[in-house]
Amino acid sequence: MRKRVYIVYTGGTIGMNKTPDGYAPAPGFLAGQMVYMPELRDSLLPEYIIHEYAPLLDSANISPHDWLNIANDIAAHHDDFDGFVVLHGTDTMAYTASALPFLLQELKKPVILTGSQIPLCEIRNDARENLITSLIIAANYGIPEVCIYFGGKLLRGCRSVKVHANGFQAFASPNYPPLGTAGIHIDINWNLVLPPPTAEPLAVRPMTEPVVGALRLFPGISAAVLKNVLQPPLKGLVLETFGVGNGPDTNQQFLDVLKEATDRGVVVVATTQCLLGSVGLGEYKTGSSLAKAGVISGHDMTAEAALAKLFYLFSANLDPVDVKNQILHNLRGELTPPKP
Ligand code: ASP
Repeated sequence: MRKRVYIVYTGGTIGMNKTPDGYAPAPGFLAGQMVYMPELRDSLLPEYIIHEYAPLLDSANISPHDWLNIANDIAAHHDDFDGFVVLHGTDTMAYTASALPFLLQELKKPVILTGSQIPLCEIRNDARENLITSLIIAANYGIPEVCIYFGGKLLRGCRSVKVHANGFQAFASPNYPPLGTAGIHIDINWNLVLPPPTAEPLAVRPMTEPVVGALRLFPGISAAVLKNVLQPPLKGLVLETFGVGNGPDTNQQFLDVLKEATDRGVVVVATTQCLLGSVGLGEYKTGSSLAKAGVISGHDMTAEAALAKLFYLFSANLDPVDVKNQILHNLRGELTPPKP
C-alpha cells in the first residue's frame, strides 16, 4: 500500500509565478505544475492530496490566526494520513514552525514545513528537491514532531531560524543539532527526536491572538521607546537582549519602565541577539539589573519560539505567574534547561 501525505499549501515562493511586481502566489499554479512532474507519481513517493488555501499568502502576511487554521486542518486529517507537508513561504516559516508544536498537543505524525528560495516554475530551483524529500520524510519516518526540511537538513521546528535571505541552505537550528540530513541517504538522528507520544489523542490548543510582541535592544534605546511598546494591553514581550542577556543598566529610567510593566503583570522574556548560546541573566551586572526589573530568562530559545510560546501560554488564559513558570520549562523541545 502506498503511503499517503496531506499537503497543506499556504503560499510562499515555492508555488509563485512572475508578475510585473515580482513573484506572487497564483491559485492553481503549483498544482498545475505538479501534474506535469512524472516523478511525483513514482511508487517510491507517497500518494498525496493538496489542500490549497485561499488566499495563498506570501508568508509576510501570515498571522497567528493562520497558525491555528493550519493546526486545525492537520488535526482534522491526522488519522487519515501517514504524514503532513506544509508548503509555506520562507520569510516567516520559522515562526509557524515554532507555533505549531505548541498548538498540536500529542502530535503523533510528522509535520514537515518546507518551501523554496526559487519557485518550482523556474528551470533552476530548490523547490523540487525540498518538495520531494519532504514528501518522503513525511510518509516514511514516524517522527512525531513539527520540523522544517530545507536544503538537505531536517530541523526541529521550534528551534529553527531563517539564516539566509538568498541561499539554498536558508534555515538552521543553531542551538539544537539537525534531526536529520538528506544526502545520498536520508539519515535521522533518532536519539534527538522527541520520545514517542502518549496514547492521548491529538488536541489543538487555543490561539486567541493575545497581545504579545518583540523588541530588539539597540545601543542608545530610550526609555520612551520601551514605554510605548509596553503600553497596555500588551501582556508579554520578547526582549532580544545583548549577549548573555544584557541591557543598558546606566539608564535608570529604562529600568524603571521595565519594572513598572513587570509589576503590573507584563511577562518580559529575555532572548539573546546572538545566533548561538543561552541567556544567563546573572552573569553580568547589566543582566542582573534586567532580572531585578522582573525580566525572566528565555534560556536558549530563539526569539521566534519565545514569541510563539507567549502567544500559546496567554491564549491558554494562564495568569502571568503561571506563564512565567511555563516559559522557564521545556514544553516541546524548544529550550535546553540550564544545568543546576
Ligand atoms: N516572500 C516569500 C514568502 O515568505 C519568500 C519565500 O517563500 O521564500 O512567502
